[in-house]
Amino acid sequence: NRQIHLVSRPTGEPTVDNFRLVEAPLPAVQEGQVLVRNHYLSLDPYMRGRMSDAKSYADPQPLDQVMMGGTVGEVVESRNPAFKAGDQVVGMGGWQEYQLVDASQRGVLQKVDTTHIPLAAYLGAVGMPGVTAWYGLTQIINPKAGETVVVSAASGAVGGAVGQLAKARGARAVGIAGGPDKCRYVVEELGFDACIDYKEHRELKSLLAALKQACPQGIDGHFENVGGMILDAVMMRANAFSRIAMCGMISGYNGEPIPMMAPQLILVNRMKIEGFIVSEHMQLWPEALKELGMMVATGKLKYRESIADGLAAAPEAFLGLLKGRNFGKQLVKLV
Ligand code: NDP
Repeated sequence: NRQIHLVSRPTGEPTVDNFRLVEAPLPAVQEGQVLVRNHYLSLDPYMRGRMSDAKSYADPQPLDQVMMGGTVGEVVESRNPAFKAGDQVVGMGGWQEYQLVDASQRGVLQKVDTTHIPLAAYLGAVGMPGVTAWYGLTQIINPKAGETVVVSAASGAVGGAVGQLAKARGARAVGIAGGPDKCRYVVEELGFDACIDYKEHRELKSLLAALKQACPQGIDGHFENVGGMILDAVMMRANAFSRIAMCGMISGYNGEPIPMMAPQLILVNRMKIEGFIVSEHMQLWPEALKELGMMVATGKLKYRESIADGLAAAPEAFLGLLKGRNFGKQLVKLV
Protein backbone atom coordinates (compact mmCIF):
# COMPACT_ATOMS: atom_id res chain seq x y z
CA ASN A 1 0.00 0.00 0.00
CA ARG A 2 1.66 3.19 -1.14
CA GLN A 3 1.08 6.20 1.13
CA ILE A 4 2.17 9.82 1.35
CA HIS A 5 3.24 11.06 4.76
CA LEU A 6 3.77 14.58 5.96
CA VAL A 7 7.39 14.59 7.18
CA SER A 8 7.99 18.28 7.98
CA ARG A 9 5.97 21.45 8.43
CA PRO A 10 6.38 24.28 5.94
CA THR A 11 7.05 27.86 6.90
CA GLY A 12 5.51 29.90 4.12
CA GLU A 13 5.07 28.03 0.87
CA PRO A 14 5.05 24.23 1.16
CA THR A 15 7.40 22.19 -1.05
CA VAL A 16 7.41 18.57 -2.23
CA ASP A 17 10.08 17.91 0.44
CA ASN A 18 7.42 18.27 3.14
CA PHE A 19 6.00 14.96 1.88
CA ARG A 20 7.39 11.43 1.51
CA LEU A 21 6.14 8.46 -0.48
CA VAL A 22 6.12 5.39 1.76
CA GLU A 23 5.43 1.72 1.02
CA ALA A 24 3.51 0.08 3.88
CA PRO A 25 2.23 -3.50 4.23
CA LEU A 26 -1.53 -4.03 4.13
CA PRO A 27 -2.72 -5.40 7.48
CA ALA A 28 -5.27 -8.25 7.55
CA VAL A 29 -8.93 -7.26 7.73
CA GLN A 30 -10.27 -7.71 11.28
CA GLU A 31 -13.85 -8.25 12.44
CA GLY A 32 -15.89 -5.05 11.83
CA GLN A 33 -13.33 -3.68 9.35
CA VAL A 34 -13.59 -2.88 5.66
CA LEU A 35 -10.74 -2.68 3.11
CA VAL A 36 -11.27 -0.04 0.44
CA ARG A 37 -9.31 0.50 -2.76
CA ASN A 38 -9.25 4.29 -3.12
CA HIS A 39 -9.98 5.41 -6.68
CA TYR A 40 -9.71 9.18 -6.27
CA LEU A 41 -8.14 11.42 -3.65
CA SER A 42 -9.46 14.95 -3.16
CA LEU A 43 -6.93 17.77 -2.76
CA ASP A 44 -8.33 20.76 -0.88
CA PRO A 45 -6.96 24.14 0.24
CA TYR A 46 -7.74 23.38 3.93
CA MET A 47 -4.90 20.82 3.87
CA ARG A 48 -2.41 23.70 3.93
CA GLY A 49 -3.84 24.68 7.34
CA ARG A 50 -3.48 21.12 8.66
CA MET A 51 0.21 21.05 7.64
CA SER A 52 0.84 23.82 10.15
CA ASP A 53 0.68 23.41 13.92
CA ALA A 54 -0.57 26.96 14.52
CA LYS A 55 -3.82 27.25 16.49
CA SER A 56 -6.80 26.60 14.24
CA TYR A 57 -10.31 25.20 14.22
CA ALA A 58 -8.90 21.70 13.57
CA ASP A 59 -5.96 19.70 14.96
CA PRO A 60 -2.79 19.63 12.84
CA GLN A 61 -1.91 16.67 10.66
CA PRO A 62 0.55 14.54 12.71
CA LEU A 63 4.04 14.13 11.23
CA ASP A 64 5.15 10.79 9.74
CA GLN A 65 1.61 9.60 9.23
CA VAL A 66 -0.61 9.34 6.16
CA MET A 67 -1.79 12.80 5.04
CA MET A 68 -5.48 13.11 5.71
CA GLY A 69 -7.91 13.69 2.88
CA GLY A 70 -11.25 12.76 1.35
CA THR A 71 -11.41 9.73 -0.97
CA VAL A 72 -13.86 7.71 -3.03
CA GLY A 73 -13.30 4.07 -3.85
CA GLU A 74 -14.56 0.52 -3.87
CA VAL A 75 -14.83 -2.02 -1.07
CA VAL A 76 -12.53 -4.97 -1.86
CA GLU A 77 -13.00 -6.96 1.34
CA SER A 78 -15.48 -6.58 4.17
CA ARG A 79 -15.87 -8.11 7.61
CA ASN A 80 -18.65 -5.67 8.43
CA PRO A 81 -22.29 -6.58 7.70
CA ALA A 82 -23.09 -3.04 6.49
CA PHE A 83 -20.67 -3.29 3.52
CA LYS A 84 -19.86 -5.83 0.84
CA ALA A 85 -17.17 -6.13 -1.82
CA GLY A 86 -18.05 -3.93 -4.80
CA ASP A 87 -19.78 -1.19 -2.78
CA GLN A 88 -18.76 2.30 -3.90
CA VAL A 89 -17.93 4.47 -0.93
CA VAL A 90 -16.85 7.95 0.10
CA GLY A 91 -14.73 8.52 3.21
CA MET A 92 -11.60 10.10 4.64
CA GLY A 93 -9.19 7.52 3.27
CA GLY A 94 -6.15 9.82 3.18
CA TRP A 95 -3.30 10.06 0.69
CA GLN A 96 -2.94 6.31 0.10
CA GLU A 97 -4.02 3.59 -2.31
CA TYR A 98 -5.89 1.42 0.19
CA GLN A 99 -7.60 2.24 3.45
CA LEU A 100 -8.56 -0.14 6.22
CA VAL A 101 -11.45 1.28 8.22
CA ASP A 102 -13.37 0.27 11.28
CA ALA A 103 -16.71 0.79 9.59
CA SER A 104 -18.71 0.28 12.79
CA GLN A 105 -18.09 3.93 13.69
CA ARG A 106 -21.04 5.86 12.30
CA GLY A 107 -20.34 8.04 9.28
CA VAL A 108 -16.70 7.04 8.63
CA LEU A 109 -17.68 5.39 5.36
CA GLN A 110 -20.76 6.21 3.27
CA LYS A 111 -22.12 4.15 0.39
CA VAL A 112 -22.85 6.20 -2.72
CA ASP A 113 -25.01 5.59 -5.77
CA THR A 114 -23.18 6.01 -9.07
CA THR A 115 -26.15 5.30 -11.36
CA HIS A 116 -26.63 8.96 -12.30
CA ILE A 117 -23.67 10.63 -10.58
CA PRO A 118 -20.02 9.80 -11.34
CA LEU A 119 -18.04 8.48 -8.36
CA ALA A 120 -15.54 11.37 -8.41
CA ALA A 121 -18.36 13.95 -8.12
CA TYR A 122 -18.84 12.82 -4.51
CA LEU A 123 -15.57 14.62 -3.76
CA GLY A 124 -16.68 17.78 -5.58
CA ALA A 125 -20.08 19.08 -6.62
CA VAL A 126 -21.96 16.37 -4.67
CA GLY A 127 -19.48 16.34 -1.80
CA MET A 128 -17.78 18.66 0.66
CA PRO A 129 -17.07 21.53 -1.79
CA GLY A 130 -20.64 21.45 -3.11
CA VAL A 131 -22.11 21.54 0.39
CA THR A 132 -19.75 24.41 1.23
CA ALA A 133 -21.13 26.40 -1.70
CA TRP A 134 -24.70 25.50 -0.76
CA TYR A 135 -24.25 26.41 2.92
CA GLY A 136 -22.68 29.82 2.36
CA LEU A 137 -25.11 30.73 -0.38
CA THR A 138 -28.38 29.56 1.16
CA GLN A 139 -27.70 30.00 4.90
CA ILE A 140 -25.66 33.22 4.89
CA ILE A 141 -26.20 35.09 1.62
CA ASN A 142 -29.76 33.82 1.02
CA PRO A 143 -30.20 35.76 -2.25
CA LYS A 144 -33.56 36.96 -3.50
CA ALA A 145 -34.39 36.88 -7.20
CA GLY A 146 -32.89 39.89 -8.95
CA GLU A 147 -30.12 40.44 -6.38
CA THR A 148 -26.44 40.35 -7.40
CA VAL A 149 -24.11 37.73 -5.92
CA VAL A 150 -20.32 37.84 -6.40
CA VAL A 151 -17.98 34.90 -5.78
CA SER A 152 -14.16 34.76 -5.84
CA ALA A 153 -12.16 31.71 -7.04
CA ALA A 154 -15.20 31.33 -9.30
CA SER A 155 -13.91 28.56 -11.57
CA GLY A 156 -13.06 26.32 -8.63
CA ALA A 157 -14.87 23.46 -6.95
CA VAL A 158 -16.71 25.69 -4.47
CA GLY A 159 -16.97 28.90 -6.50
CA GLY A 160 -18.40 27.28 -9.62
CA ALA A 161 -21.25 25.78 -7.61
CA VAL A 162 -21.95 29.04 -5.77
CA GLY A 163 -22.74 30.95 -8.97
CA GLN A 164 -24.92 28.19 -10.41
CA LEU A 165 -26.89 27.84 -7.17
CA ALA A 166 -27.36 31.63 -7.14
CA LYS A 167 -28.59 31.57 -10.76
CA ALA A 168 -31.03 28.77 -9.86
CA ARG A 169 -32.50 31.19 -7.29
CA GLY A 170 -32.95 33.94 -9.85
CA ALA A 171 -29.96 36.04 -8.79
CA ARG A 172 -27.35 37.67 -11.00
CA ALA A 173 -24.05 35.78 -10.61
CA VAL A 174 -20.69 37.47 -11.10
CA GLY A 175 -17.43 35.57 -10.75
CA ILE A 176 -13.86 36.67 -10.07
CA ALA A 177 -11.15 34.33 -11.36
CA GLY A 178 -7.55 34.30 -12.55
CA GLY A 179 -6.99 34.44 -16.30
CA PRO A 180 -9.06 34.65 -19.51
CA ASP A 181 -9.59 30.87 -19.88
CA LYS A 182 -11.09 30.50 -16.42
CA CYS A 183 -13.26 33.60 -16.91
CA ARG A 184 -14.54 32.40 -20.28
CA TYR A 185 -15.40 29.01 -18.77
CA VAL A 186 -17.25 30.62 -15.85
CA VAL A 187 -19.50 32.60 -18.22
CA GLU A 188 -19.84 30.26 -21.19
CA GLU A 189 -19.94 26.85 -19.49
CA LEU A 190 -21.22 27.61 -16.00
CA GLY A 191 -23.67 30.32 -17.09
CA PHE A 192 -22.55 33.17 -14.83
CA ASP A 193 -23.64 36.64 -16.03
CA ALA A 194 -20.09 38.01 -15.94
CA CYS A 195 -16.60 37.14 -14.71
CA ILE A 196 -13.75 39.49 -13.82
CA ASP A 197 -10.14 38.46 -14.40
CA TYR A 198 -8.46 39.82 -11.27
CA LYS A 199 -5.03 39.36 -12.84
CA GLU A 200 -5.99 42.10 -15.30
CA HIS A 201 -6.88 44.44 -12.44
CA ARG A 202 -3.91 44.60 -10.09
CA GLU A 203 -4.85 48.08 -8.84
CA LEU A 204 -7.83 48.63 -6.55
CA LYS A 205 -9.14 51.42 -8.78
CA SER A 206 -9.18 49.19 -11.82
CA LEU A 207 -10.86 46.32 -9.94
CA LEU A 208 -13.50 48.72 -8.62
CA ALA A 209 -14.25 49.91 -12.16
CA ALA A 210 -14.58 46.30 -13.38
CA LEU A 211 -16.94 45.48 -10.50
CA LYS A 212 -19.03 48.55 -11.24
CA GLN A 213 -19.43 47.46 -14.83
CA ALA A 214 -20.23 43.83 -13.95
CA CYS A 215 -22.57 44.77 -11.08
CA PRO A 216 -24.52 47.85 -12.22
CA GLN A 217 -27.01 47.43 -9.33
CA GLY A 218 -24.27 47.01 -6.71
CA ILE A 219 -23.56 43.82 -4.75
CA ASP A 220 -26.08 42.19 -2.40
CA GLY A 221 -24.24 39.00 -1.56
CA HIS A 222 -20.60 37.97 -1.69
CA PHE A 223 -19.01 34.55 -1.26
CA GLU A 224 -15.36 35.07 -0.26
CA ASN A 225 -12.75 32.45 -1.06
CA VAL A 226 -9.64 34.59 -1.51
CA GLY A 227 -9.40 37.66 0.79
CA GLY A 228 -7.25 40.77 0.40
CA MET A 229 -7.87 43.37 -2.27
CA ILE A 230 -10.75 41.42 -3.81
CA LEU A 231 -12.68 41.56 -0.52
CA ASP A 232 -11.96 45.28 -0.08
CA ALA A 233 -13.15 46.07 -3.60
CA VAL A 234 -16.36 44.05 -3.16
CA MET A 235 -17.10 45.82 0.14
CA MET A 236 -16.69 49.18 -1.57
CA ARG A 237 -19.33 48.17 -4.15
CA ALA A 238 -21.65 46.49 -1.64
CA ASN A 239 -25.23 47.64 -1.14
CA ALA A 240 -26.86 48.42 2.19
CA PHE A 241 -27.81 45.21 4.06
CA SER A 242 -25.53 43.05 1.91
CA ARG A 243 -24.29 39.70 3.22
CA ILE A 244 -20.81 38.19 2.99
CA ALA A 245 -20.16 34.47 3.50
CA MET A 246 -16.54 34.16 4.65
CA CYS A 247 -15.58 30.76 3.33
CA GLY A 248 -11.84 30.98 2.69
CA MET A 249 -8.93 33.37 2.35
CA ILE A 250 -6.58 31.38 0.18
CA SER A 251 -4.40 34.40 -0.63
CA GLY A 252 -3.13 34.22 2.97
CA TYR A 253 -2.72 30.45 3.46
CA ASN A 254 1.07 30.59 3.20
CA GLY A 255 1.20 33.26 5.88
CA GLU A 256 0.92 36.30 3.60
CA PRO A 257 -0.61 39.31 5.40
CA ILE A 258 -4.19 40.07 4.32
CA PRO A 259 -5.04 43.47 5.77
CA MET A 260 -8.58 44.79 5.42
CA MET A 261 -8.79 48.34 4.24
CA ALA A 262 -12.44 49.14 4.70
CA PRO A 263 -13.83 47.71 7.98
CA GLN A 264 -15.84 50.93 8.47
CA LEU A 265 -17.96 49.88 5.49
CA ILE A 266 -19.41 47.04 7.56
CA LEU A 267 -21.19 49.67 9.62
CA VAL A 268 -21.82 52.18 6.85
CA ASN A 269 -23.45 49.46 4.69
CA ARG A 270 -25.03 47.61 7.68
CA MET A 271 -23.45 44.41 6.39
CA LYS A 272 -23.70 40.90 7.77
CA ILE A 273 -20.39 39.05 7.56
CA GLU A 274 -20.29 35.46 8.74
CA GLY A 275 -17.54 32.85 8.68
CA PHE A 276 -18.37 29.14 8.65
CA ILE A 277 -16.81 25.69 8.59
CA VAL A 278 -18.91 23.29 6.55
CA SER A 279 -18.17 20.23 8.70
CA GLU A 280 -19.80 21.95 11.69
CA HIS A 281 -23.20 21.89 9.97
CA MET A 282 -23.67 18.17 9.35
CA GLN A 283 -27.43 18.41 10.01
CA LEU A 284 -27.83 20.37 6.76
CA TRP A 285 -25.75 18.05 4.55
CA PRO A 286 -28.65 15.75 3.54
CA GLU A 287 -30.72 18.71 2.32
CA ALA A 288 -27.75 20.22 0.49
CA LEU A 289 -26.68 16.92 -1.08
CA LYS A 290 -30.22 16.28 -2.26
CA GLU A 291 -30.34 19.53 -4.24
CA LEU A 292 -26.75 19.17 -5.49
CA GLY A 293 -27.27 15.52 -6.49
CA MET A 294 -30.46 16.34 -8.39
CA MET A 295 -28.78 19.21 -10.20
CA VAL A 296 -25.74 17.14 -11.21
CA ALA A 297 -27.84 14.16 -12.29
CA THR A 298 -30.01 16.40 -14.50
CA GLY A 299 -27.07 18.37 -15.92
CA LYS A 300 -28.08 21.63 -14.23
CA LEU A 301 -24.94 21.84 -12.12
CA LYS A 302 -21.78 21.74 -14.21
CA TYR A 303 -18.24 21.32 -12.99
CA ARG A 304 -14.78 20.60 -14.22
CA GLU A 305 -11.96 18.50 -12.80
CA SER A 306 -8.17 18.68 -12.85
CA ILE A 307 -6.94 15.12 -12.44
CA ALA A 308 -3.36 14.29 -11.43
CA ASP A 309 -2.27 10.79 -12.34
CA GLY A 310 -1.14 8.47 -9.56
CA LEU A 311 -0.43 8.94 -5.86
CA ALA A 312 3.15 10.13 -6.45
CA ALA A 313 1.78 13.16 -8.30
CA ALA A 314 -0.28 14.32 -5.29
CA PRO A 315 2.24 16.67 -3.60
CA GLU A 316 2.98 18.58 -6.83
CA ALA A 317 -0.75 18.82 -7.62
CA PHE A 318 -1.42 20.13 -4.13
CA LEU A 319 1.21 22.87 -4.51
CA GLY A 320 -0.42 23.74 -7.84
CA LEU A 321 -3.84 24.10 -6.19
CA LEU A 322 -2.44 26.81 -3.90
CA LYS A 323 -1.12 28.65 -6.96
CA GLY A 324 -4.21 28.39 -9.15
CA ARG A 325 -2.69 25.83 -11.54
CA ASN A 326 -5.81 23.68 -11.07
CA PHE A 327 -8.82 24.37 -13.28
CA GLY A 328 -11.84 23.09 -11.36
CA LYS A 329 -11.91 20.42 -8.66
CA GLN A 330 -8.41 19.03 -8.04
CA LEU A 331 -8.34 15.24 -7.80
CA VAL A 332 -5.69 12.53 -7.88
CA LYS A 333 -6.55 9.35 -9.76
CA LEU A 334 -5.23 6.39 -7.82
CA VAL A 335 -6.25 3.43 -10.00
P1 NDP B 1 -10.48 25.84 -5.88
O1 NDP B 1 -10.89 24.70 -6.74
O2 NDP B 1 -11.22 27.12 -5.99
O3 NDP B 1 -8.94 26.07 -6.05
C1 NDP B 1 -8.27 27.12 -5.41
C2 NDP B 1 -8.29 28.37 -6.30
O4 NDP B 1 -7.96 29.50 -5.53
C3 NDP B 1 -7.21 28.36 -7.37
O5 NDP B 1 -7.58 27.64 -8.51
C4 NDP B 1 -7.02 29.83 -7.66
O6 NDP B 1 -7.94 30.24 -8.66
C5 NDP B 1 -7.43 30.50 -6.36
N1 NDP B 1 -6.26 31.12 -5.71
C6 NDP B 1 -5.20 30.51 -5.19
N2 NDP B 1 -4.33 31.41 -4.70
C7 NDP B 1 -4.88 32.61 -4.91
C8 NDP B 1 -4.47 33.94 -4.63
N3 NDP B 1 -3.33 34.21 -4.00
N4 NDP B 1 -5.29 34.95 -5.00
C9 NDP B 1 -6.45 34.69 -5.61
N5 NDP B 1 -6.89 33.45 -5.92
C10 NDP B 1 -6.11 32.43 -5.56
O7 NDP B 1 -10.57 25.36 -4.35
P2 NDP B 1 -11.88 25.00 -3.53
O8 NDP B 1 -13.08 25.30 -4.35
O9 NDP B 1 -11.71 23.66 -2.97
O10 NDP B 1 -11.85 26.04 -2.32
C11 NDP B 1 -12.16 27.41 -2.51
C12 NDP B 1 -12.11 28.13 -1.17
O11 NDP B 1 -13.10 27.58 -0.29
C13 NDP B 1 -10.78 28.05 -0.44
O12 NDP B 1 -10.52 29.31 0.13
C14 NDP B 1 -11.06 27.03 0.64
O13 NDP B 1 -10.20 27.17 1.74
C15 NDP B 1 -12.50 27.33 0.97
N6 NDP B 1 -13.24 26.25 1.63
C16 NDP B 1 -13.81 26.51 2.84
C17 NDP B 1 -14.59 25.58 3.48
C18 NDP B 1 -15.27 25.94 4.75
O14 NDP B 1 -15.86 25.08 5.39
N7 NDP B 1 -15.22 27.19 5.17
C19 NDP B 1 -14.75 24.22 2.92
C20 NDP B 1 -14.15 24.06 1.61
C21 NDP B 1 -13.41 25.04 1.00
P3 NDP B 1 -7.59 31.45 -9.68
O15 NDP B 1 -6.73 30.85 -10.74
O16 NDP B 1 -8.91 31.90 -10.13
O17 NDP B 1 -6.83 32.46 -8.88
